[in-house]
Amino acid sequence: MTLIKNEQELREDMCEIARMMYDKGLICGPAGNISAKLADGTFLLTPSLFFKQRLTPDQLIIVDEQGNKVGSQTSANRDLQPTSETSMHLHTYQNRPDVGAIVHAHPSFCVALSVAGKKIRPQVLTEAMLFLGDIGVADYKTPTTDDLGAEVGRLMRSHDCVLLPYHGVTVAGKDMWEACAKLEVLEQTAEICVLVEQLGGEKPLAQPHVKDMLKLRQDWGLAKKSDTNLLDY
Ligand SMILES: [Zn+2]
Repeated sequence: MTLIKNEQELREDMCEIARMMYDKGLICGPAGNISAKLADGTFLLTPSLFFKQRLTPDQLIIVDEQGNKVGSQTSANRDLQPTSETSMHLHTYQNRPDVGAIVHAHPSFCVALSVAGKKIRPQVLTEAMLFLGDIGVADYKTPTTDDLGAEVGRLMRSHDCVLLPYHGVTVAGKDMWEACAKLEVLEQTAEICVLVEQLGGEKPLAQPHVKDMLKLRQDWGLAKKSDTNLLDY
């Protein structure tokens, strides 16, 4: 049984994760946002704000399913607005009832691969095959628009990780810590892809081994219908 943390614990976790994302270079300046589902069906969100690593628990904002600001007003959050990317969070929760938290970041290696028109290939790292599965690639949409939110939500039906070309990544998990862990593995996978290119290109892992990893993923209850994309070379 999943233990749903109370609101104050989630507020503290969210600030800690924002600092970790900043310290690891996954976000910088005003970039990045985090959300978590609350027990009553509303959502805790980071505000639109410079320097997420300085967030305090009372600055976080609660919105309803339509993105309206609800919940407790504090002197710290009264004049703040929910993240400008609220739409991608709400579309994802709408399409994925199993998702409890979402992180959005701008990791350099992921974005660099998208700008070069290259894929992030989980096949280069066993941990990525097991925990991430296929990486969805969104059509380019202008940041902050509902078009982008709908595009991310569409891909999240069959993925936990979506690459937003020239922009960043959005990662879903059952809770914030799982989503953040996947984000770290995703950026490491992208970095390995770049290094492999520099070393002369990939010697692909044999398909039977990839199939074994997908079987393990299935056994662990992580399988998604997009998993078969990992068998495309
Ligand atoms: Zn962004």
